Amino acid sequence: MQVKDAFFIAGRWVPAQGTDPLFVVNPATEEQIASVPAGTEEDVDRAVAAARAAFPAWSATPPEQRAALLSAAADALEARTDEVAGLITSEMGTPLGFSKMVQVGNPVRVLRSYATILGEYSFEEQIANSLVVKEPIGVVAAITPWNYPLHQVVAKVAAALAAGCTVVLKPSEVAPLSAFVLAEVLSSVGLPEGVVNLVTGLGPVVGEALAAHPDVDMVSFTGSTAAGKRVMAVAAGTVKKVSLELGGKSAFVVLDDADLGKAVKVGLANCFINGGQTCTAWTRMLVPAERYDEVLGLLREGAAKYPVGDPTDDGSRIGPLANANQYKRVVGYIEQAVADGATVVAGGPERPEGLDRGYYVRPTVLAGVTPGSTVEQEEVFGPVLAVIPYSSEDEAVEIANGTPYGLSGGVFSGDQERAVAIARRMRTGMVDVNGGRFNPLAPFGGYKQSGNGRELGEYGLEEFLEVKSLQL
Ligand code: NAD
Repeated sequence: MQVKDAFFIAGRWVPAQGTDPLFVVNPATEEQIASVPAGTEEDVDRAVAAARAAFPAWSATPPEQRAALLSAAADALEARTDEVAGLITSEMGTPLGFSKMVQVGNPVRVLRSYATILGEYSFEEQIANSLVVKEPIGVVAAITPWNYPLHQVVAKVAAALAAGCTVVLKPSEVAPLSAFVLAEVLSSVGLPEGVVNLVTGLGPVVGEALAAHPDVDMVSFTGSTAAGKRVMAVAAGTVKKVSLELGGKSAFVVLDDADLGKAVKVGLANCFINGGQTCTAWTRMLVPAERYDEVLGLLREGAAKYPVGDPTDDGSRIGPLANANQYKRVVGYIEQAVADGATVVAGGPERPEGLDRGYYVRPTVLAGVTPGSTVEQEEVFGPVLAVIPYSSEDEAVEIANGTPYGLSGGVFSGDQERAVAIARRMRTGMVDVNGGRFNPLAPFGGYKQSGNGRELGEYGLEEFLEVKSLQL
């Protein structure tokens, strides 16, 4: 078992004040594989002081130099892909191939993207007689979840560093291990001391101490809507900026002229990605009533192509859920949906055959889900698809927009313009049309209770900038 007992503060590994261990459990084996310290308010104070002390010099570092460090960090992280992918798979259960390609591949791409953006971005603009200068906001607290544990961290840290901010990072206590490697990587490429600091711990302790801290200028939070609301409330005392990336209940609208075979394939892939533990997952498929039965048949066949099993086995497309709580929650949602009148088309609440250890659930497709029911409204965060019939485009848009969330979504049609017209009517931050690919330079974020911030690309950089106008 790996035992971590130090935090990365001011460029050094210093013993944690909080010595209680938080155990990391491998969800495939249910065994403890590591422990990290449960940080305290004192740990937070030390880390914030280090970030504050590093801010003047780092914010004055020329963008070319910041870009060179980000680029070197991308190379150093890429060189450790296999090791980091293995850590992420062992702490949260995603299949190893996906870990390499996405869980580590995306952070490498995002680090590089910010090196490139810094070469092109102008931190000044002239508006009539004013010179508008964009300055780093200051010390940023980054609080992140376990589902894409390194990607969520890097989406914040790379953009904040590019902007000239300094950072205190609190990764998820469920999957903290890759954040330790990132600290090593940043240190190895010569990031000045105190520019990035790492403290692990529980949300209500370390997270809230950061959100309340008078010397933290901004909180960038990714996680559940409930915790995001709490962070916003705690941060209000100091009027600091709060950027939130929260939950989702995204809709995939299949139009009546769509190639159903392709639509079902893309829809399942977007729902079951990372075992459904993806904030942008399309967990509601909206289907024309007259083609409903045809779609259910295709979904039954399609779901069978998602073998569940050991995440280190090449044949597994879905590993276990990340932890015991998630397992109980997801099974509970499937049972509740059935009690509310849904029919199981594929999967169901029983354990997958042959897997009596580990937090495995069957990829599940539910038909007859009523708009307004629990499984239609709430984020399940597991491989569970709710299929809902509609009888007009207006009704499809109404159902798609009928939850408190608005993070992502999709539209599929034989006619691109028709699909784009529907996408424009969806109250959501991102819509993929006819299977459009993920773009790491496009703004990423939500409407409504899915959050108020944007990450990635230039929009992600601007989250960490203050705007000052000089009247000349
Ligand atoms: P979570 O809200 O339980 O935890 C996220 C982080 O917040 C963790 O580091 C946790 O320790 C911390 N935290 C918890 N309570 C806190 C508090 N009171 N004050 C400060 N910090 C606190 O979420 P999770 O279970 O780790 O992740 C799953 C959730 O994250 C899902 O709802 C998912 O949709 C969301 N998510 C959103 C995005 C996005 O970009 N919109 C991306 C990934 C995940």
